[in-house]
Amino acid sequence: MSSGIRFDAVSVAYGGTTVLDALDLTVEPGEVMALLGPSGSGKTTALRAVAGFVKPVSGRVHIGGRDVTDLPPHRRGIGMVVQQYALFPHLRVEDNVAFGLKARKAARAEIPGRVAEALEMTGMGGYAKRYPRELSGGQQQRVAIARALAIRPDVLLLDEPLSALDAQLRSGMLAELARLHRELPDVSMLYVTHDQVEALTLADRIAVMDKARLQDCGTPQELYRRPRTEFTASFVGNANLLPVTVGTGAVSLGERELEVDTGGAGAGSRATLCVRPHLVGLGDGPNALPGRVAEVQWRGATHRLLVDVGGHRVKADVRELRVTPALGDSVVLHFAPEDAVLIGAGVSDG
Ligand code: ADP
Repeated sequence: MSSGIRFDAVSVAYGGTTVLDALDLTVEPGEVMALLGPSGSGKTTALRAVAGFVKPVSGRVHIGGRDVTDLPPHRRGIGMVVQQYALFPHLRVEDNVAFGLKARKAARAEIPGRVAEALEMTGMGGYAKRYPRELSGGQQQRVAIARALAIRPDVLLLDEPLSALDAQLRSGMLAELARLHRELPDVSMLYVTHDQVEALTLADRIAVMDKARLQDCGTPQELYRRPRTEFTASFVGNANLLPVTVGTGAVSLGERELEVDTGGAGAGSRATLCVRPHLVGLGDGPNALPGRVAEVQWRGATHRLLVDVGGHRVKADVRELRVTPALGDSVVLHFAPEDAVLIGAGVSDG
């Protein structure tokens, strides 16, 4: 049985301040949905509303088609993993993992098998007798995941599960979580993070949050290639955001005409042109932007050039740069019309 999650206009407030504003969002059965956004945007609050740790002031939460808004946490069929592992220090690993099963009054005879299964699944089979203090941070987090999985949840809620780990462990655990998702294709996961790499790597879809509201939602590719808002464009990947005025089949950036797909945008309206830095080339080409080099950053495989183009700072990530331009050099940048996305243009009614 697989079940998804549905937020139906869910609002949460603390002391009269709305911290989650009418969230509408559906996580399909078996889907990994990342809630991505800066600190304080309401991500954890949304997760806690699913878990049953906060009560919405309005709206309903559904799990597997069932309205769970008024159910206590332990009756919602969820497993939860938080940033700080939250293992019981005085219990051995196996008893930590068994805890949720005992609390849910699982049949006694079933518990050892379920514990062993969950520990195997997270690669912790050999550590059942240890205490949490005898484990590294990464191992403790695996145990916390095993504990969440032992109850065979329909829904797994993960709140910044990797943020207490160092960078190298983090990428290893990310691969582990992706593997777990493949092994548990029926479990829906809601994954809170402020880290776009985690969201892009793990999620089937990303819900972008800012200021208590859902800003955007789509697959990583959709959000990256066709962001609908400036916020998404700059939060998911890196972006040049240039203020332009819409023309016909072109936009103007100051005096300069740039050929882009204007879709149904109304001529004369103001909009933002989004071009990813790695799609901006150095040298002459379509949509040439002459300017002066303001900064050069070496980033291993690429150079990031910051170029002043008529008062706008344009970022270009250039590969295989044989001769590094000096500060103040005159250069030309360019980008292909199909690599630019117009954001926030009014739609023409003509
Ligand atoms: P995020 O997970 O995106 O960092 P949160 O959902 O934790 O954001 O918090 C959203 C807002 O709600 C923040 O401004 C935070 O300070 C506030 N908040 C969270 N929990 C509480 C609480 N228990 N009491 C009062 N304010 C809270």
